[in-house]
Amino acid sequence: MAHVKLHIPGPVEVSEKTFQAFRLPMIGHRGQGFKDLMAKIQPQLQTLLGTKQLVCLSTSSAWGVMEGALRNLTHKKVLNCMKGAFSDKWLDVAKRCGKEAEALQVPWGSPIRAEAIDARLATGQFDSLTLIHNETSTGTMSPVAEIAALKRKYPEVMFIVDAVSSMTAVPLNFDHLGIDVLLAGAQKAFALPPGLTVFTCSSAALAKAATTKDRGYYFDFVDFQKNAAENMTPSTPSISHVYALASKLDEFYAEGLMARYDRHRQTNQMTRDWATKHGFTLFPESGFESMTLCCVNNGAKSGGRKIDAAKLQKLTKDQGYLIDGGYGKIKGTTFRISNMGDETPASMTMLLTAMDSAMTKL
Ligand SMILES: *Cc1c(COP(=O)(O)O)cnc(C)c1O
Repeated sequence: MAHVKLHIPGPVEVSEKTFQAFRLPMIGHRGQGFKDLMAKIQPQLQTLLGTKQLVCLSTSSAWGVMEGALRNLTHKKVLNCMKGAFSDKWLDVAKRCGKEAEALQVPWGSPIRAEAIDARLATGQFDSLTLIHNETSTGTMSPVAEIAALKRKYPEVMFIVDAVSSMTAVPLNFDHLGIDVLLAGAQKAFALPPGLTVFTCSSAALAKAATTKDRGYYFDFVDFQKNAAENMTPSTPSISHVYALASKLDEFYAEGLMARYDRHRQTNQMTRDWATKHGFTLFPESGFESMTLCCVNNGAKSGGRKIDAAKLQKLTKDQGYLIDGGYGKIKGTTFRISNMGDETPASMTMLLTAMDSAMTKL
């Protein structure tokens, strides 16, 4: 069957070069070869995340580490900042882990603002909070620096930040932000196959985790840290992913991180311009739009031309490109187009030209 190129916001298209790295022969994960591989990528990951802390690799999708962060770091109560499908889910996950949890819910499409968090943390009830930097279901980015600045006021609260669909596409400086956990799954802006999560923890988070009873085994952050110090992982990792990540990191530095961020800004702007050209508005509140995808209103509410998002998706797919028909409760009234990963102005032009053609048939 002909391959349909992915422009959904994860998993995204994986290059042939990455697959070539992915299928290199296996090596033992306690052997020198593996340690050398990890030693090579560790400083590249540290620069990427802007940290002197060790960066850990988990063979799990992002939710493994998202759940793990709660198991390691929530003793009292967690504040779940909620603004879309993924961030809303984190409340449910906290409860399923038996944690005291409270929702700080804003309407889908709105960002989370520091004032709202400040008001809740001021109650003194919370020892942790979860935040999704780029809420992928709505294409909305929250001002992470503004929120992270609260850490100075509440040093004992663990700030757990999901940057699943923004890491590598926008600058994120972990040490400068001063947050406690930063994580991302590999299948989004890293453009790797799904199944790997990159994360780092502050010294305070590691010290707290060490005091946490029942933090479990598989996502024990202390174990991850100890192993990372020896260029290893606690259990057998997906070695294929580590090869692929190493290849990807070399690509990032060959391009240059700044050029990579610029490319995402540029390809995202192309998508926004396409939406505007067709009379659509974007779903997120103005000024808080994502850089890695566009969540576009189908016109139902914007006064523009109302289109059938499922039909647009189908007509685009017939030309070899898969866009997303909306997620959760905004499925059908929005559609999403991803520009994350390896996309270039040239590849986006191909997609958007196909979508232009689809629009003429609606
Ligand atoms: C995709 C996504 C997740 C879920 O990640 P899995 O890899 O499916 O566990 C979590 N958070 C955000 C922001 C995402 O975009």
